[in-house]
Amino acid sequence: MALELVTLPCLSDNYAYLLHDPLSGATAVVDVPEAGPILAELARREWQLSDILLTHHHDDHIAGVAELRAATGAKVWGAEADRPRLPRLDFALSGGESFAFGGEEAVVIDVPGHTLGHIAFYFAQSALAFTGDSLMAGGCGRLFEGKPEQMWASLQRLAALPGETRICSGHEYTGANLRFAAAIEPGNPAIAARTLRVMKARAEGRPSVPSRLSGELATNPFLRASLPEMKAALDMSTATDAEVFAQLRARKDRF
Ligand code: ZN
Ligand code: FE
Repeated sequence: MALELVTLPCLSDNYAYLLHDPLSGATAVVDVPEAGPILAELARREWQLSDILLTHHHDDHIAGVAELRAATGAKVWGAEADRPRLPRLDFALSGGESFAFGGEEAVVIDVPGHTLGHIAFYFAQSALAFTGDSLMAGGCGRLFEGKPEQMWASLQRLAALPGETRICSGHEYTGANLRFAAAIEPGNPAIAARTLRVMKARAEGRPSVPSRLSGELATNPFLRASLPEMKAALDMSTATDAEVFAQLRARKDRF
């Protein structure tokens, strides 16, 4: 049986995700921008929080951990590499490791770039990937700590997951990301179609996340740096994939 997923808006434009296994009752939250909305949703659904999964150390992803842990007794999972910068961890993880959650296996994927210790959580059976501020809907996180080559390699790891995988990312940045995507590839009809869907969802107060990986591959410029048409669009036909990615990231930073 697939895990239940709840997308929870937090702060001004962050998302936390609840993940619930109906058979065992196991319930996780991925990232904790603030405790209030998470505690309210748990109470509403009468779910007991068992696990707190952290993608990276930024305050807008961990600020509510202490309060949530105190209120629920949930165990905290995060990257061993970032242990000094994360809240106290009960379980420290490295890329390639897996652990059991409910009846499923969760796999840890190293995705450095936005931060050096950034990790993603992949649940193959439920086709869910929690990517924080690495791969985002229509875009990717800024390179605060890592090099473009690192982020490009991280995105390639995520791009290799099955196309039906739902990408659960950390922010509602999709509209702005797609404006950039359209400026880079004005002739890409998938970007125009996705922009209309996202505008409709936002006008109705619905999140634009999660998104399908297959849709990201068709529209997200940061996953398309290796394509001949992208290289041609940037006048970089002889450049490496990572160089094209770096150029896209630099242009987005100025966009
Ligand atoms: Zn961040
Ligand atoms: Fe963030």
